Amino acid sequence: MADQAVPTAAREWHLAARPQGWPTPADFALVEAPVRQPGPGEILVRNEYLSVDPYMRGRMNDVKSYVPPFQLGRVMDGGAVGRVVASQAEGIEVGDAVLHGAGWREYATVDAKHAVKVDAQAAPLSYYLGVLGMPGLTAYAGLLDVADFKPGDSVFVSGAAGAVGSLVGQIAKLKGASRVIGSAGSAEKVARLTGEYGFDAAFNYKDGPVREQLEKAAPEGIDVYFDNVGGEHLEAAISVLNAHGRVTLCGAIAQYNDTSAPAGPRNLALAIGKRLRLQGMLVGDHAALQPQFTAEVAGWLRDGGLTYDETVVDGVENAVEAFIGLLRGGNTGKMVVRLGA
Ligand code: NDP
Repeated sequence: MADQAVPTAAREWHLAARPQGWPTPADFALVEAPVRQPGPGEILVRNEYLSVDPYMRGRMNDVKSYVPPFQLGRVMDGGAVGRVVASQAEGIEVGDAVLHGAGWREYATVDAKHAVKVDAQAAPLSYYLGVLGMPGLTAYAGLLDVADFKPGDSVFVSGAAGAVGSLVGQIAKLKGASRVIGSAGSAEKVARLTGEYGFDAAFNYKDGPVREQLEKAAPEGIDVYFDNVGGEHLEAAISVLNAHGRVTLCGAIAQYNDTSAPAGPRNLALAIGKRLRLQGMLVGDHAALQPQFTAEVAGWLRDGGLTYDETVVDGVENAVEAFIGLLRGGNTGKMVVRLGA
């Protein structure tokens, strides 16, 4: 397969130091590295969009987890979509659009087994990092499968203006929730929840105690809590959940930058009398739902049933700023980094 003109070197982000508490730009280094031509079974991709995701903060710590930590002085990885510019892999041609895991860099040489072709005609490429990708499947599986959502359930979701949360609330409405309540960190986001996203109620968790605000927003209680945040939010939800309520433990972003152990939830014993079920989830366990998820969500996008937002930061040099911005709530919908054409 003929190669398109590609530079001999391109930029990539390395982890320079392990953040203590909140990450700072000094923890990262933008490095010029050689672009390697693909060997047998490999493709070379010019990345067009990089994903920055909250789980990456955990990978910056040197601890054993469900994904290995980033290595100091080495390029980080993460979701990316781009165009193939050279291929030595059967079935993948120059010009194909692919989703793969070698993000945080302009050019990626990847084993074709670890890349998935995506349809650039069906949706903007960046959607495969969001609504049609990992965060979308997390919302879909976490609500319908893990929380065992049933029509008529009252649903509360935190981080509700983010990539996962905005989809959880809208999918719950589309599937017949009796009431959907969301929390987010600004008045603009709260307005978007009850406006474009169609939530029944929403509040800014920075305006006062979460429990008081949730009790007001859900006078009949809640049946499902989709937890993206942990801490005070989880404690409030446990208080407000109805008997036989279900909680999807998806994320705990309120504590990702903490340097001491979290205090709560302090009311876990309530789960006994209420017969609550709290279940952790990892999206990787739900690959079997992918075809159903893709068909249903693509349909909602086509017919306008689902609103999808992105916050786009331009330039590989701004990827760290995008990542730190994500942790601070600078995004509405999915945070992505767009690389120059
Ligand atoms: P988001 O798009 O929701 O971005 C993160 C958001 O978190 C920010 O925009 C910010 O919004 C909010 N936030 C930050 N700090 C706090 C805080 N102290 N309290 C409350 N909210 C806060 O990210 P994603 O949709 O990609 O991820 C959402 C959650 O889902 C994360 O916890 C992530 O780790 C988890 N996740 C888990 C997966 C799994 O398999 N278990 C897979 C994918 C994601 P605001 O302005 O509202 O504060």
